[in-house]
Amino acid sequence: MSLQSSPHHVLVLNCGSSSLKFAILDATTSEEVISGLAERLGSSSPSVKYKYLGKKQLIELAPDQAHSAAINTLVSLINEHHLAENLIAVGHRVVHGGEHFTKSVLIDDDVIKGITQAATLAPLHGHANLLGIAAAQASFKGLPQVAVFDTAFHQTMGNVAYLYALPYKLYTDYGVRRYGFHGTSHYYVTGQTAALLNQPIKQSNFISAHLGNGCSVCAIKNGKSVDTSMGLTPLEGLMMGTRSGDIDPGLFNFLTTQLNYDAQQIDDLLNQQSGLLGISELSNDCRTIEEAAVAGNEKAILALEMFCYRLAKQIAAFMVPLQRLDALIFTGGIGENSDIIRDKVITQLSYLGLDCDSTANLAARFGTQGIISSHNAKTKAVVMPTNEEWVIALDAASIAQEL
Ligand code: AMP
Repeated sequence: MSLQSSPHHVLVLNCGSSSLKFAILDATTSEEVISGLAERLGSSSPSVKYKYLGKKQLIELAPDQAHSAAINTLVSLINEHHLAENLIAVGHRVVHGGEHFTKSVLIDDDVIKGITQAATLAPLHGHANLLGIAAAQASFKGLPQVAVFDTAFHQTMGNVAYLYALPYKLYTDYGVRRYGFHGTSHYYVTGQTAALLNQPIKQSNFISAHLGNGCSVCAIKNGKSVDTSMGLTPLEGLMMGTRSGDIDPGLFNFLTTQLNYDAQQIDDLLNQQSGLLGISELSNDCRTIEEAAVAGNEKAILALEMFCYRLAKQIAAFMVPLQRLDALIFTGGIGENSDIIRDKVITQLSYLGLDCDSTANLAARFGTQGIISSHNAKTKAVVMPTNEEWVIALDAASIAQEL
């Protein structure tokens, strides 16, 4: 994708249930013009933080104000700083595209219907995405609006990988299958790593580990996603900040019959109270846990060990579809910064030809990319900062320019 003249500014929106992350990027250079985060939307103290020309500012919103108020504030900022004239599109991060959306699309009524349908599979995220799209359509009437789906990159998975061993009708009648998420990130780091290693994407076999508050691993064969650890929802797979990842589904019966949990309580337990937080009983934040572990806190040590063991186990499992691995990629807040976790995981996977150069491992943080394995390593270990916003900006700009 190449964009000739500049500037081509794209407003990138990422709506969560109570937050809205925004940025205006130049799709030609990836330069960030303004960025910010509206948080605690719908609560008693919503606010908008933003950074413009290197300066950070905070705007308090009135109690209970939600997504449309955040977008209104954003419109005021755009007008105040004269940022509208170079805007060519709005790109929306949409969490669930179901089976229907295999690539980014211009949003029209049919697309809204498709996103609404897919939202039944991820109600919290889907509803927020639709709110963001509606608010942006109302505020940026003349601009093309583009949806970029977190699930799209994984639509190349085969049915052996994406089906659950459940009655087949649940798939055909209700779309119950594995979809995978973090697709934009896995896609981006795949391209960047192929470039770093100077090898053609179409001949690249990678495993990428996106480790942030949410965590997922993706098996990439000849440049395409062939399996990933998240499933119908972002709960499946790895241990995460507050999510359990894989559990025995028999737990549902135990929780309901023995402990009187209802569906909402189980959902909350698995999504909000588990993972690093659940085991450490301290925090979902990896930095806090690493500090506590260094100070000898046993539950923090256990949380880190479990996180790394389960991650290494999932990576090893992906050797089944890949057979040959060129590189293991670390990305996301933890993957890009935690030399401790990278070292522990690589050590457990040394039989795959991976090793860890401790100097390179320590140096790769705060947004630096690099190869952290030794020169002799058969399989490379790579730290590659993700940039989902830029992928969204590029896709939105490219679709807008085709109009
Ligand atoms: P993300 O969701 O990608 O923003 O990642 C958030 C996670 O990255 C949190 O668990 C943070 O504690 C973790 N993280 C950020 N910086 C560091 C760091 N320097 N060392 C370890 N973990 C970090």
